[in-house]
Amino acid sequence: MAILLIHGGAGTFNEAKAESYREGLRRAVDAGYTVLTAGGTALDAVITAVTSMEANPEAFNAGVGGAMTRTGEVELDACVMLSDGSAGAVGGVRNSRNPIRLADLVRTTTPHVLLVGEGAEALETDPVDNEALKSPRSRVEFDRWLASNGPPSGSGTVGAVALADDGTLAAATSTGGIVGQYSGRIGDTPLPGAGTWADANVAVSGTGKGEAFIRSVACKSLADELRHGASLSDALTTSLAGLVTAGGTGGFIVVTADGRVGYGFNTPAMAYGVRAPGVTEHDLTQDTGVHVLTTG
Ligand code: ASP
Repeated sequence: MAILLIHGGAGTFNEAKAESYREGLRRAVDAGYTVLTAGGTALDAVITAVTSMEANPEAFNAGVGGAMTRTGEVELDACVMLSDGSAGAVGGVRNSRNPIRLADLVRTTTPHVLLVGEGAEALETDPVDNEALKSPRSRVEFDRWLASNGPPSGSGTVGAVALADDGTLAAATSTGGIVGQYSGRIGDTPLPGAGTWADANVAVSGTGKGEAFIRSVACKSLADELRHGASLSDALTTSLAGLVTAGGTGGFIVVTADGRVGYGFNTPAMAYGVRAPGVTEHDLTQDTGVHVLTTG
């Protein structure tokens, strides 16, 4: 069964941005699902969906249009992980339009899992100036953060999980982090187990307060709940509660090797999209809670 589920971040609902979110989600999930149903791998599908959202600066906080640090730079994190246990990730990248591709290069061309800063940037074959990663939206959000004098915040991280017909799984997540974060801050996104996870049974991508995802090893904890026999609904509920205990909120998208698919969030809104036999959905939804979908 071919299934693709994506997210475009969990956070607050913004009516003015809802349409650009929905259009960006539709484009990304359609592009990834076309690849998946044309014989592509789960990896191809998640990379296609995530690169589509990385290239959408007005809706999402990833690639071009990533959040700006307190010193006004864009520093990007990304991770890809497969059901064969392989993983690649980058952190603090300042020169790439598509950090998810760099993450996959770490996986395929180095003996490592995670490269940060200059080491990761050296893999970029088409480097851009950091200014090229700032969009009008990321500048407005930075100025708003400066004026507010508040803690770092924001959403719009992107992610995708896929199950291919052959039973293989992949998860990918990409983000600019949070507006006003310290330079050098690495969030949960590029840390396998925290913001991204795949194993032989399940693929998970998270979005929300990264420090809480790290402290609760959120995506791996969700996978462990399933491995110990919890239903998908209960695993999502437990992991969302674990985020709260760890001092944050957020959301997850999940697909299992036996074809179960669901998402859950405890923020006011979450952007998501699904394509599976019998299911075509994409929305910026305010239906906070756990959702397990029935596929055909
Ligand atoms: N989890 C991301 C981070 O903390 C942000 C988000 O998903 O909104 O870097």
